Amino acid sequence: RSGCQTKHRLKDGRIIDVEIRSHTLQFGRRKAVLVVAQDITESKRAEEKIRTLNAELEQRVAERTVQLAAANQELELRNQELERISQLKSQFLASMSHELRTPLNAICGFSKLLADQTAGSLNEKQRRYAEHVQTGGKHLLQLINDILDLSKIEAGQLELHQEDFFVAEALPEVLSLTKPLVMAQKVTVEIPAATGLRVHADRVRFKQILYNLLSNAAKFTPAGGEIWIEGAGEGRFVRLSVRDTGIGIPPEEQATIFNDFHQVGTTTKGVKEGTGLGLAITKRLVEQHGGKIWVESEPGKGSQFSFTLPGGSLPQASRRNVIPAAVGSGKQDALPSLRVSMKKILIAEDNPANRELLLEILSGQGYDVVEACDGGEALRMMEQTAPDVVLLDLQMPVLDGFAVLRKIRQDARFAAVPVMALTAYAMLGDREKTLDAGFNAYLSKPIDAAKLRTQIDRLLCR
Ligand code: ADP
Repeated sequence: RSGCQTKHRLKDGRIIDVEIRSHTLQFGRRKAVLVVAQDITESKRAEEKIRTLNAELEQRVAERTVQLAAANQELELRNQELERISQLKSQFLASMSHELRTPLNAICGFSKLLADQTAGSLNEKQRRYAEHVQTGGKHLLQLINDILDLSKIEAGQLELHQEDFFVAEALPEVLSLTKPLVMAQKVTVEIPAATGLRVHADRVRFKQILYNLLSNAAKFTPAGGEIWIEGAGEGRFVRLSVRDTGIGIPPEEQATIFNDFHQVGTTTKGVKEGTGLGLAITKRLVEQHGGKIWVESEPGKGSQFSFTLPGGSLPQASRRNVIPAAVGSGKQDALPSLRVSMKKILIAEDNPANRELLLEILSGQGYDVVEACDGGEALRMMEQTAPDVVLLDLQMPVLDGFAVLRKIRQDARFAAVPVMALTAYAMLGDREKTLDAGFNAYLSKPIDAAKLRTQIDRLLCR
Protein backbone atom coordinates (compact mmCIF):
# COMPACT_ATOMS: atom_id res chain seq x y z
CA ARG A 1 0.00 0.00 0.00
CA SER A 2 2.88 2.32 0.70
CA GLY A 3 3.95 4.40 -2.26
CA CYS A 4 7.43 4.53 -3.73
CA GLN A 5 8.81 6.81 -6.39
CA THR A 6 10.60 5.72 -9.45
CA LYS A 7 11.08 6.47 -13.14
CA HIS A 8 8.92 5.08 -15.87
CA ARG A 9 9.57 4.89 -19.57
CA LEU A 10 6.54 5.68 -21.72
CA LYS A 11 5.84 4.00 -25.02
CA ASP A 12 7.12 7.04 -26.89
CA GLY A 13 10.41 6.76 -25.03
CA ARG A 14 9.95 9.74 -22.63
CA ILE A 15 10.93 9.08 -19.04
CA ILE A 16 8.62 10.39 -16.36
CA ASP A 17 8.48 10.38 -12.55
CA VAL A 18 5.86 8.06 -11.12
CA GLU A 19 4.65 7.05 -7.72
CA ILE A 20 3.78 3.37 -7.39
CA ARG A 21 1.24 2.19 -4.84
CA SER A 22 0.09 -1.39 -4.41
CA HIS A 23 -3.03 -2.76 -2.76
CA THR A 24 -3.73 -6.41 -1.93
CA LEU A 25 -7.19 -7.58 -2.80
CA GLN A 26 -9.09 -10.74 -1.97
CA PHE A 27 -10.96 -12.52 -4.80
CA GLY A 28 -12.89 -15.27 -3.03
CA ARG A 29 -10.09 -17.52 -1.85
CA ARG A 30 -7.50 -15.98 -4.08
CA LYS A 31 -5.33 -13.05 -3.41
CA ALA A 32 -4.54 -10.43 -6.00
CA VAL A 33 -2.38 -7.33 -6.07
CA LEU A 34 -3.52 -4.04 -7.63
CA VAL A 35 -0.62 -1.86 -8.65
CA VAL A 36 -1.18 1.80 -9.57
CA ALA A 37 1.50 3.94 -11.14
CA GLN A 38 0.70 7.67 -10.97
CA ASP A 39 2.42 10.32 -13.04
CA ILE A 40 3.83 12.86 -10.52
CA THR A 41 5.82 15.01 -12.94
CA GLU A 42 3.70 18.08 -12.22
CA SER A 43 3.83 17.93 -8.44
CA LYS A 44 7.57 17.20 -8.61
CA ARG A 45 8.03 20.30 -10.70
CA ALA A 46 5.94 22.42 -8.29
CA GLU A 47 7.95 21.12 -5.33
CA GLU A 48 11.15 21.98 -7.08
CA LYS A 49 9.91 25.46 -7.81
CA ILE A 50 8.98 26.05 -4.17
CA ARG A 51 12.41 24.86 -3.14
CA THR A 52 14.18 27.29 -5.45
CA LEU A 53 11.91 30.13 -4.39
CA ASN A 54 12.62 29.41 -0.74
CA ALA A 55 16.33 29.29 -1.35
CA GLU A 56 16.18 32.59 -3.23
CA LEU A 57 14.21 34.16 -0.39
CA GLU A 58 16.67 32.96 2.19
CA GLN A 59 19.48 34.32 0.14
CA ARG A 60 17.78 37.70 -0.12
CA VAL A 61 17.04 37.83 3.62
CA ALA A 62 20.65 37.03 4.37
CA GLU A 63 21.86 39.80 2.04
CA ARG A 64 19.42 42.28 3.57
CA THR A 65 20.49 41.37 7.09
CA VAL A 66 24.07 42.05 6.22
CA GLN A 67 23.16 45.41 4.68
CA LEU A 68 21.07 46.35 7.71
CA ALA A 69 23.81 45.40 10.11
CA ALA A 70 26.22 47.61 8.18
CA ALA A 71 23.76 50.51 8.19
CA ASN A 72 23.18 50.03 11.91
CA GLN A 73 26.83 50.11 12.62
CA GLU A 74 27.23 53.26 10.60
CA LEU A 75 24.33 54.87 12.46
CA GLU A 76 25.80 53.82 15.76
CA LEU A 77 29.11 55.41 14.82
CA ARG A 78 27.40 58.56 13.66
CA ASN A 79 25.40 58.71 16.91
CA GLN A 80 28.54 58.33 18.94
CA GLU A 81 30.16 61.07 16.92
CA LEU A 82 27.15 63.36 17.40
CA GLU A 83 27.10 62.65 21.08
CA ARG A 84 30.78 63.44 21.31
CA ILE A 85 30.31 66.72 19.43
CA SER A 86 27.36 67.64 21.61
CA GLN A 87 29.40 66.87 24.74
CA LEU A 88 32.24 68.97 23.38
CA LYS A 89 29.86 71.82 22.65
CA SER A 90 28.43 71.61 26.15
CA GLN A 91 31.87 71.49 27.75
CA PHE A 92 32.96 74.41 25.62
CA LEU A 93 29.90 76.42 26.62
CA ALA A 94 30.35 75.55 30.25
CA SER A 95 33.97 76.62 30.34
CA MET A 96 33.28 79.71 28.25
CA SER A 97 30.53 80.70 30.64
CA HIS A 98 32.88 80.44 33.57
CA GLU A 99 35.52 82.44 31.74
CA LEU A 100 33.04 85.16 30.79
CA ARG A 101 31.79 85.54 34.30
CA THR A 102 35.02 86.96 35.71
CA PRO A 103 35.34 90.01 33.44
CA LEU A 104 31.59 90.46 33.61
CA ASN A 105 31.87 90.69 37.34
CA ALA A 106 34.15 93.68 36.92
CA ILE A 107 31.82 95.29 34.39
CA CYS A 108 28.75 94.91 36.59
CA GLY A 109 30.50 95.84 39.82
CA PHE A 110 32.28 98.95 38.56
CA SER A 111 29.39 100.26 36.52
CA LYS A 112 27.27 100.01 39.64
CA LEU A 113 29.89 101.94 41.61
CA LEU A 114 29.94 104.57 38.86
CA ALA A 115 26.16 104.84 38.72
CA ASP A 116 25.94 105.08 42.50
CA GLN A 117 28.45 107.94 42.24
CA THR A 118 30.63 106.57 45.02
CA ALA A 119 33.76 107.63 43.17
CA GLY A 120 32.58 111.14 42.47
CA SER A 121 29.53 112.73 40.93
CA LEU A 122 28.54 112.20 37.31
CA ASN A 123 26.53 114.46 35.11
CA GLU A 124 23.13 113.31 33.91
CA LYS A 125 24.41 111.88 30.64
CA GLN A 126 27.29 109.99 32.28
CA ARG A 127 24.93 108.52 34.85
CA ARG A 128 22.62 107.31 32.11
CA TYR A 129 25.53 105.74 30.24
CA ALA A 130 26.70 103.97 33.39
CA GLU A 131 23.17 102.61 33.80
CA HIS A 132 23.18 101.31 30.23
CA VAL A 133 26.42 99.48 30.95
CA GLN A 134 24.82 97.99 34.04
CA THR A 135 21.70 96.87 32.21
CA GLY A 136 23.75 95.34 29.43
CA GLY A 137 25.95 93.59 31.97
CA LYS A 138 22.98 92.12 33.81
CA HIS A 139 21.49 90.86 30.59
CA LEU A 140 24.75 89.23 29.63
CA LEU A 141 25.01 87.62 33.05
CA GLN A 142 21.51 86.19 32.68
CA LEU A 143 22.40 84.88 29.24
CA ILE A 144 25.52 83.22 30.59
CA ASN A 145 23.65 81.65 33.48
CA ASP A 146 21.01 80.33 31.10
CA ILE A 147 23.56 78.93 28.68
CA LEU A 148 25.41 77.28 31.53
CA ASP A 149 22.19 75.72 32.76
CA LEU A 150 21.23 74.53 29.33
CA SER A 151 24.62 73.04 28.59
CA LYS A 152 24.68 71.30 31.95
CA ILE A 153 21.31 69.77 31.27
CA GLU A 154 22.30 68.72 27.76
CA ALA A 155 25.55 67.19 28.93
CA GLY A 156 23.56 65.18 31.45
CA GLN A 157 25.45 66.89 34.25
CA LEU A 158 22.45 68.32 35.97
CA GLU A 159 21.66 66.17 38.95
CA LEU A 160 18.26 66.37 40.52
CA HIS A 161 17.95 66.06 44.28
CA GLN A 162 14.35 65.03 44.49
CA GLU A 163 12.43 65.11 47.76
CA ASP A 164 8.85 65.48 48.94
CA PHE A 165 7.70 68.98 49.82
CA PHE A 166 4.63 71.17 49.72
CA VAL A 167 4.22 73.62 46.85
CA ALA A 168 3.38 76.13 49.58
CA GLU A 169 6.88 75.84 51.05
CA ALA A 170 8.51 76.90 47.80
CA LEU A 171 6.13 79.73 46.94
CA PRO A 172 7.24 82.57 49.25
CA GLU A 173 10.74 82.63 47.82
CA VAL A 174 9.58 82.50 44.22
CA LEU A 175 7.05 85.23 44.87
CA SER A 176 9.56 87.49 46.54
CA LEU A 177 11.94 87.00 43.59
CA THR A 178 9.24 87.98 41.11
CA LYS A 179 7.94 90.77 43.31
CA PRO A 180 9.92 93.59 41.65
CA LEU A 181 8.65 92.55 38.21
CA VAL A 182 5.09 92.10 39.42
CA MET A 183 5.12 95.46 41.15
CA ALA A 184 6.67 97.21 38.18
CA GLN A 185 3.98 95.75 35.92
CA LYS A 186 1.20 96.54 38.38
CA VAL A 187 -0.36 93.09 38.08
CA THR A 188 -1.77 91.00 40.91
CA VAL A 189 -0.92 87.38 41.59
CA GLU A 190 -3.48 85.03 43.06
CA ILE A 191 -2.87 81.56 44.37
CA PRO A 192 -6.20 79.88 44.96
CA ALA A 193 -5.63 76.23 45.55
CA ALA A 194 -2.23 74.99 44.56
CA THR A 195 -0.45 75.40 47.83
CA GLY A 196 -1.56 72.28 49.69
CA LEU A 197 -0.16 69.99 47.01
CA ARG A 198 2.91 67.91 47.63
CA VAL A 199 5.47 67.28 44.90
CA HIS A 200 8.44 64.97 44.61
CA ALA A 201 10.97 67.24 42.95
CA ASP A 202 14.24 69.08 43.20
CA ARG A 203 13.41 72.09 45.36
CA VAL A 204 15.81 74.50 43.66
CA ARG A 205 14.79 73.48 40.15
CA PHE A 206 11.12 73.56 41.08
CA LYS A 207 11.51 77.19 42.14
CA GLN A 208 13.36 77.90 38.91
CA ILE A 209 10.52 76.45 36.84
CA LEU A 210 7.89 78.48 38.67
CA TYR A 211 10.03 81.59 38.61
CA ASN A 212 10.51 81.35 34.84
CA LEU A 213 6.80 80.96 34.19
CA LEU A 214 5.80 83.65 36.68
CA SER A 215 8.29 86.20 35.44
CA ASN A 216 7.21 85.55 31.84
CA ALA A 217 3.58 85.99 32.87
CA ALA A 218 4.48 89.30 34.54
CA LYS A 219 6.60 90.47 31.59
CA PHE A 220 3.89 89.81 29.05
CA THR A 221 0.91 91.09 31.03
CA PRO A 222 0.04 94.77 30.83
CA ALA A 223 -0.64 96.85 33.95
CA GLY A 224 -3.85 96.00 35.74
CA GLY A 225 -3.72 92.40 34.54
CA GLU A 226 -3.93 89.33 36.69
CA ILE A 227 -1.88 86.20 37.19
CA TRP A 228 -3.06 83.03 38.85
CA ILE A 229 -1.16 80.02 40.07
CA GLU A 230 -3.39 76.99 40.17
CA GLY A 231 -2.86 73.32 40.74
CA ALA A 232 -4.44 69.94 41.24
CA GLY A 233 -3.42 66.37 41.85
CA GLU A 234 -3.64 64.21 38.71
CA GLY A 235 -3.04 60.55 39.51
CA ARG A 236 0.58 60.10 40.50
CA PHE A 237 1.35 63.58 39.21
CA VAL A 238 0.65 67.12 40.28
CA ARG A 239 -0.30 69.70 37.69
CA LEU A 240 0.52 73.35 38.23
CA SER A 241 -0.57 76.17 35.95
CA VAL A 242 0.44 79.79 35.67
CA ARG A 243 -2.31 81.72 33.93
CA ASP A 244 -2.21 85.37 32.90
CA THR A 245 -4.42 87.95 31.20
CA GLY A 246 -1.51 89.10 29.05
CA ILE A 247 -0.80 89.61 25.36
CA GLY A 248 -1.01 85.90 24.51
CA ILE A 249 0.91 83.86 21.94
CA PRO A 250 -0.18 83.24 18.31
CA PRO A 251 -1.09 79.56 17.65
CA GLU A 252 1.73 79.06 15.13
CA GLU A 253 4.30 80.11 17.75
CA GLN A 254 3.02 77.98 20.59
CA ALA A 255 5.19 74.96 19.78
CA THR A 256 8.37 76.89 18.96
CA ILE A 257 8.54 79.08 22.06
CA PHE A 258 10.03 76.09 23.89
CA ASN A 259 13.00 76.07 21.48
CA ASP A 260 16.36 77.62 22.33
CA PHE A 261 16.61 81.36 21.70
CA HIS A 262 13.07 81.67 20.42
CA GLN A 263 11.30 84.92 21.16
CA VAL A 264 7.98 85.85 19.64
CA GLY A 265 7.50 89.52 20.20
CA THR A 266 8.29 92.35 22.50
CA THR A 267 7.26 92.57 26.14
CA THR A 268 4.58 94.97 27.24
CA LYS A 269 7.32 97.57 27.53
CA GLY A 270 7.94 97.23 23.80
CA VAL A 271 11.38 95.66 24.16
CA LYS A 272 12.74 92.14 23.87
CA GLU A 273 13.61 91.37 27.43
CA GLY A 274 15.13 88.07 28.41
CA THR A 275 17.26 85.62 26.53
CA GLY A 276 14.81 83.34 24.80
CA LEU A 277 16.22 80.47 26.81
CA GLY A 278 13.88 80.53 29.82
CA LEU A 279 11.25 78.20 28.38
CA ALA A 280 13.82 75.90 26.79
CA ILE A 281 15.41 75.40 30.19
CA THR A 282 12.06 75.11 31.93
CA LYS A 283 10.95 72.41 29.50
CA ARG A 284 14.13 70.39 30.01
CA LEU A 285 13.87 70.72 33.78
CA VAL A 286 10.28 69.52 33.78
CA GLU A 287 11.09 66.63 31.46
CA GLN A 288 14.07 65.57 33.51
CA HIS A 289 11.64 65.18 36.41
CA GLY A 290 9.51 62.94 34.19
CA GLY A 291 6.86 65.61 33.70
CA LYS A 292 5.36 67.46 30.75
CA ILE A 293 4.87 71.13 29.94
CA TRP A 294 2.46 72.79 27.52
CA VAL A 295 0.85 76.09 26.74
CA GLU A 296 -2.68 77.19 25.94
CA SER A 297 -3.04 80.73 24.76
CA GLU A 298 -5.17 83.15 22.83
CA PRO A 299 -3.61 86.35 21.48
CA GLY A 300 -5.00 89.37 23.28
CA LYS A 301 -6.63 87.29 25.99
CA GLY A 302 -3.81 85.60 27.88
CA SER A 303 -1.76 82.45 28.28
CA GLN A 304 -1.71 79.46 30.51
CA PHE A 305 1.46 77.45 30.98
CA SER A 306 0.92 74.11 32.71
CA PHE A 307 3.38 71.48 33.81
CA THR A 308 3.28 68.20 35.67
CA LEU A 309 5.70 66.83 38.23
CA PRO A 310 5.62 63.60 40.22
CA GLY A 311 3.42 63.95 43.30
CA GLY A 312 4.77 63.37 46.78
CA SER A 313 4.59 59.77 47.99
CA LEU A 314 2.81 60.74 51.22
CA PRO A 315 -0.88 61.56 50.99
CA GLN A 316 -1.56 65.10 49.82
CA ALA A 317 -1.79 67.57 52.73
CA SER A 318 -3.79 65.40 55.01
CA ARG A 319 -3.40 67.70 58.00
CA ARG A 320 -5.01 71.02 57.46
CA ASN A 321 -2.61 72.98 59.65
CA VAL A 322 0.37 72.13 57.49
CA ILE A 323 -0.70 74.50 54.78
CA PRO A 324 -1.27 77.80 56.56
CA ALA A 325 1.84 77.21 58.66
CA ALA A 326 3.94 76.75 55.55
CA VAL A 327 2.58 79.76 53.70
CA GLY A 328 2.39 82.10 56.61
CA SER A 329 5.76 81.36 58.16
CA GLY A 330 6.41 85.04 58.65
CA LYS A 331 7.72 85.45 55.12
CA GLN A 332 4.31 86.30 53.76
CA ASP A 333 4.58 89.71 55.42
CA ALA A 334 7.41 90.52 53.07
CA LEU A 335 5.02 90.34 50.13
CA PRO A 336 2.53 93.13 50.69
CA SER A 337 1.57 93.50 47.05
CA LEU A 338 0.76 89.85 46.51
CA ARG A 339 -2.50 88.36 47.54
CA VAL A 340 -1.57 84.90 48.73
CA SER A 341 -5.02 83.60 49.47
CA MET A 342 -5.98 80.02 50.09
CA LYS A 343 -9.67 79.46 49.87
CA LYS A 344 -11.10 78.46 53.23
CA ILE A 345 -13.85 75.91 53.63
CA LEU A 346 -15.90 75.34 56.76
CA ILE A 347 -17.23 71.82 57.25
CA ALA A 348 -20.06 71.41 59.76
CA GLU A 349 -20.75 67.71 60.27
CA ASP A 350 -21.36 65.78 63.49
CA ASN A 351 -20.11 62.39 62.29
CA PRO A 352 -16.32 62.24 62.88
CA ALA A 353 -15.66 59.75 60.10
CA ASN A 354 -17.55 61.81 57.54
CA ARG A 355 -15.80 64.92 58.74
CA GLU A 356 -12.42 63.30 58.30
CA LEU A 357 -13.32 62.12 54.80
CA LEU A 358 -14.34 65.62 53.74
CA LEU A 359 -11.16 66.98 55.30
CA GLU A 360 -9.04 64.48 53.34
CA ILE A 361 -10.68 65.27 50.01
CA LEU A 362 -10.61 69.04 50.40
CA SER A 363 -7.23 69.55 52.02
CA GLY A 364 -5.78 67.26 49.34
CA GLN A 365 -7.06 69.82 46.85
CA GLY A 366 -5.17 72.59 48.59
CA TYR A 367 -8.03 74.16 50.50
CA ASP A 368 -7.67 75.45 54.01
CA VAL A 369 -10.26 73.44 55.90
CA VAL A 370 -11.85 74.27 59.27
CA GLU A 371 -14.21 71.90 61.05
CA ALA A 372 -17.24 72.17 63.32
CA CYS A 373 -19.07 69.24 64.89
CA ASP A 374 -22.48 70.84 65.50
CA GLY A 375 -24.59 73.78 64.37
CA GLY A 376 -23.59 75.98 67.28
CA GLU A 377 -19.89 75.49 66.68
CA ALA A 378 -20.44 76.11 62.97
CA LEU A 379 -21.73 79.60 63.72
CA ARG A 380 -18.84 80.32 66.07
CA MET A 381 -16.33 79.16 63.42
CA MET A 382 -18.04 81.40 60.86
CA GLU A 383 -17.22 84.38 63.08
CA GLN A 384 -13.66 83.30 63.74
CA THR A 385 -12.53 82.13 60.34
CA ALA A 386 -14.69 83.88 57.70
CA PRO A 387 -14.72 80.93 55.25
CA ASP A 388 -15.17 81.25 51.49
CA VAL A 389 -17.52 78.27 51.30
CA VAL A 390 -19.58 76.44 53.94
CA LEU A 391 -20.59 72.77 53.85
CA LEU A 392 -23.51 72.04 56.19
CA ASP A 393 -24.75 68.64 57.19
CA LEU A 394 -28.53 68.93 57.48
CA GLN A 395 -28.94 66.70 60.55
CA MET A 396 -26.79 68.05 63.36
CA PRO A 397 -27.17 68.48 67.12
CA VAL A 398 -27.78 71.91 68.71
CA LEU A 399 -28.87 73.54 65.43
CA ASP A 400 -29.64 71.65 62.26
CA GLY A 401 -28.39 72.70 58.82
CA PHE A 402 -31.52 74.70 57.94
CA ALA A 403 -31.30 76.70 61.20
CA VAL A 404 -27.60 77.41 60.69
CA LEU A 405 -28.28 78.59 57.15
CA ARG A 406 -31.00 80.98 58.37
CA LYS A 407 -28.57 82.50 60.92
CA ILE A 408 -25.88 82.86 58.27
CA ARG A 409 -28.24 84.59 55.86
CA GLN A 410 -29.40 86.99 58.57
CA ASP A 411 -25.84 88.16 59.16
CA ALA A 412 -24.87 90.83 56.64
CA ARG A 413 -21.21 89.80 56.77
CA PHE A 414 -21.97 86.27 55.62
CA ALA A 415 -25.07 86.74 53.54
CA ALA A 416 -23.16 86.21 50.30
CA VAL A 417 -21.05 83.22 51.36
CA PRO A 418 -22.00 80.15 49.30
CA VAL A 419 -23.42 77.32 51.42
CA MET A 420 -23.76 73.70 50.35
CA ALA A 421 -26.14 71.21 51.96
CA LEU A 422 -25.04 67.65 52.69
CA THR A 423 -27.74 65.10 53.30
CA ALA A 424 -27.86 61.41 53.93
CA TYR A 425 -31.52 61.06 52.98
CA ALA A 426 -31.33 61.81 49.29
CA MET A 427 -35.07 61.56 49.09
CA LEU A 428 -37.04 62.79 46.18
CA GLY A 429 -37.65 66.47 46.71
CA ASP A 430 -34.65 66.90 49.01
CA ARG A 431 -32.88 68.86 46.37
CA GLU A 432 -35.78 71.26 45.84
CA LYS A 433 -36.26 71.60 49.59
CA THR A 434 -32.65 72.61 50.18
CA LEU A 435 -32.46 74.94 47.19
CA ASP A 436 -35.77 76.55 48.23
CA ALA A 437 -34.38 77.07 51.71
CA GLY A 438 -31.58 79.14 50.18
CA PHE A 439 -28.70 76.67 49.93
CA ASN A 440 -26.50 77.36 46.91
CA ALA A 441 -25.77 73.71 46.24
CA TYR A 442 -26.76 70.27 47.38
CA LEU A 443 -24.88 66.99 47.63
CA SER A 444 -26.16 63.64 48.84
CA LYS A 445 -24.12 61.10 50.77
CA PRO A 446 -22.11 59.03 50.22
CA ILE A 447 -20.00 61.95 49.08
CA ASP A 448 -18.48 61.54 45.64
CA ALA A 449 -15.08 63.26 45.69
CA ALA A 450 -15.21 64.37 42.05
CA LYS A 451 -18.73 65.80 42.40
CA LEU A 452 -17.76 67.60 45.57
CA ARG A 453 -14.78 69.20 43.87
CA THR A 454 -16.83 70.31 40.86
CA GLN A 455 -19.50 71.82 43.07
CA ILE A 456 -16.95 73.68 45.16
CA ASP A 457 -15.17 75.00 42.09
CA ARG A 458 -18.52 76.20 40.80
CA LEU A 459 -19.34 77.91 44.10
CA LEU A 460 -15.92 79.57 44.26
CA CYS A 461 -16.21 80.89 40.70
CA ARG A 462 -19.55 82.54 41.25
P1 ADP B 1 12.50 85.07 27.31
O1 ADP B 1 13.72 85.03 28.15
O2 ADP B 1 12.66 85.88 26.06
O3 ADP B 1 11.26 85.39 28.06
P2 ADP B 1 11.42 82.44 27.13
O4 ADP B 1 12.01 81.19 26.58
O5 ADP B 1 11.10 82.47 28.58
O6 ADP B 1 12.40 83.59 26.76
O7 ADP B 1 10.14 82.78 26.31
C1 ADP B 1 10.16 82.73 24.90
C2 ADP B 1 9.13 83.61 24.29
O8 ADP B 1 7.82 83.09 24.54
C3 ADP B 1 9.08 85.01 24.87
O9 ADP B 1 10.04 85.84 24.27
C4 ADP B 1 7.67 85.43 24.54
O10 ADP B 1 7.58 85.90 23.21
C5 ADP B 1 6.88 84.14 24.66
N1 ADP B 1 6.21 84.02 25.98
C6 ADP B 1 6.62 83.32 27.04
N2 ADP B 1 5.74 83.40 28.08
C7 ADP B 1 4.74 84.20 27.66
C8 ADP B 1 3.50 84.68 28.25
N3 ADP B 1 3.14 84.35 29.51
N4 ADP B 1 2.70 85.48 27.50
C9 ADP B 1 3.07 85.81 26.23
N5 ADP B 1 4.20 85.40 25.62
C10 ADP B 1 5.04 84.59 26.31
